[in-house]
Amino acid sequence: MKKFKKVIIKHPTLRNLRNNLRKIIDIWELTEEKKLSDKMQSLDWKSPQWRELRDTQNQLRRLLNLSICVCDVCQAQDKDMVFDPFVPKWMCVDCHEVLIPKYKDPRVQAEIHAEADDVSLEEFKATMQKNFGIKEEKSKRD
Ligand SMILES: [Zn+2]
Repeated sequence: MKKFKKVIIKHPTLRNLRNNLRKIIDIWELTEEKKLSDKMQSLDWKSPQWRELRDTQNQLRRLLNLSICVCDVCQAQDKDMVFDPFVPKWMCVDCHEVLIPKYKDPRVQAEIHAEADDVSLEEFKATMQKNFGIKEEKSKRD
């Protein structure tokens, strides 16, 4: 059975730490995007190298948006997040509260299941592991 996974941090110091780590990751992503843009400027936009760099740029942004660092709905980076396995994406608790009543409508549920992209989460995990050596750790409480 698919379950929502909420990550709530109540301690103010830990919240601050989490928010600052998210900012660092966002700044790192923007810096990488800028480096790729700089390389692209010296290339012909019709060349395969240019397209490859653009695809890498898009993938970086896409991976950040798939991560727990950013709410997929409102783009907030400073809120507690919920992983919604039906979408499947991370979103902030506020956006999730708004969406939950809609899930009870069977027509919406059918639409969500039709659009669900289980590949995106697996792709995200595989890319994070391959490119950055980051592995998903199983929680001992699960
Ligand atoms: Zn949100």
